[in-house]
Amino acid sequence: MKVALYPGSFDPLTQGHVSIIQRGLTMFDRLVVAVANNPKKTPLFSVEERESFIREAVGADGSRVEVDSFSGLLVDYARSRGVSVVLRGLRAVSDFEYEFQLANMNRRLARNIETVFMMTGEDYFYVSSQLIREVASFGGDVSGMVPECVLKALRARFPRQG
Ligand code: ADP
Repeated sequence: MKVALYPGSFDPLTQGHVSIIQRGLTMFDRLVVAVANNPKKTPLFSVEERESFIREAVGADGSRVEVDSFSGLLVDYARSRGVSVVLRGLRAVSDFEYEFQLANMNRRLARNIETVFMMTGEDYFYVSSQLIREVASFGGDVSGMVPECVLKALRARFPRQG
């Protein structure tokens, strides 16, 4: 059974994340999608909300996707779950530097944990949770870039003006 851990802030889940989950499922039998609970960040959506968006968005793939959350070091969480592959997405050169540092730091901390990268599809390479939050907060239309459940939650959080 090939299992990978897909960690992230997912604040909120975007179609870019969904694409990585769907494509990850073609390589792995199961994915553990883990929402990072970082007390140093003030998220737009709570961990519970972020988890529920993922559950709703994966729909029929749900039987092969476990949604969870973690705090602390990723490698400690991976170890506690007995998972040795971490899945991450790469959008653009701008992601590379940070992801490269993170993957190497994690390998240093836990020799047996490997990070696997998937390139983002051309449709969502410019989509980031941060940009989605920003555009939505000013009343911009982010439909098509986030799952329906996230769109609804964003519209409730930031009613469109005018
Ligand atoms: P983090 O705060 O850990 O970077 P994110 O939720 O921003 O969490 O991202 C989680 C993972 O998903 C990261 O590997 C990121 O590069 C990847 N990712 C984010 N947006 C996209 C996208 N549009 N296409 C592909 N991968 C993405």
